[in-house]
Amino acid sequence: MSLVPAAERTASPEPGAEESCRVRGVVVRRVEQVSGSFLRLVFGPESPGDELPFPVLGADQWFRLFIPHGGAHDAELLPPWGGAAGWYLRWQRLPEESRAVIRNYTVRAIRGGEGPDWEFDVDFVLHRDAAGALEGIAARWAAGASPGDRAAVLGQGTIFTRLCDPCRVLAVCDETGLPGLEAILAGLPEGVTADVIAEVPTASDERSLPGAASVTWAPRDRGLGWEAALAAAVGRTGSDSVYAVGGNELALGARRMAREAGFDDERITFCSYWRAQRERRARR
Ligand SMILES: Cc1cc2nc3c(=O)[nH]c(=O)nc-3n(C[C@H](O)[C@H](O)[C@H](O)COP(=O)(O)OP(=O)(O)OC[C@H]3O[C@@H](n4cnc5c(N)ncnc54)[C@H](O)[C@@H]3O)c2cc1C
Repeated sequence: MSLVPAAERTASPEPGAEESCRVRGVVVRRVEQVSGSFLRLVFGPESPGDELPFPVLGADQWFRLFIPHGGAHDAELLPPWGGAAGWYLRWQRLPEESRAVIRNYTVRAIRGGEGPDWEFDVDFVLHRDAAGALEGIAARWAAGASPGDRAAVLGQGTIFTRLCDPCRVLAVCDETGLPGLEAILAGLPEGVTADVIAEVPTASDERSLPGAASVTWAPRDRGLGWEAALAAAVGRTGSDSVYAVGGNELALGARRMAREAGFDDERITFCSYWRAQRERRARR
């Protein structure tokens, strides 16, 4: 096992891909229930001949999603149309009371990427408050979406990096990181072996993960969580690297546990996907 040089690790857009990365309109083609906590929206071209809105990068490729203000299905869609450069500044200059809501999502799968009849899947977590009500503008928008609904997207890069060659990676995620991890497993590079720990809201969200050497599910409705599963596995699976994506506590906690188990930063990839409201408030 040798470390992969830093310069060869990224799968972010190739030079020249910048121009193809524009804010582009897409429409919902289909809505499919994946499991109790996951809803898949299948997006396709807004007009015949529209190109796939981002280059196909594979792995856990992610993008900015723009949905109508307030997540209202009947509101005008007002994203910062144009190229990738300066998109955030353009968005800030749009009228606050009507501009699009921005969220981050992962491409679960792409079909027909080379031709005109492409489509891509996005698995939305339907996250709920303590009383069981759906919370979050994007989660509610997805839950109420139907074919023909418009959105806009702006392609970004990937987070998964192949840190060593050959490599045994210990991947830990919550439900928000699961779609990306499934996409990684679907195209796992030769020489990479993955052991997975996935925390999900309910046992009914467990599924088959082809490509993984081992899978440990930690459904919260059974009182289980990522932390105990990682504590049991880290340092004992013969892993060379750790990949941790999900809520802030998971991403930072998994990095800390990996460090304590002897992984140096060169062997840890982590990303915080969301943060609990109370933490957000405390940080303001
Ligand atoms: C690179 C990247 C890729 C991502 N990919 C996906 C993906 O493929 N699928 C996916 O579902 N999410 C994904 N996420 C996470 C998603 O962006 C956040 O969960 C986002 O906050 C959801 O927006 P919302 O409008 O529904 O909730 P918000 O309006 O942002 O939040 C409302 C409330 O819900 C809380 N909250 C937000 N998300 C969650 C959650 N997942 N569980 C529990 N409480 C939450 C917030 O703390 C807040 O209190 C990704 C994030 C990143 C950074």
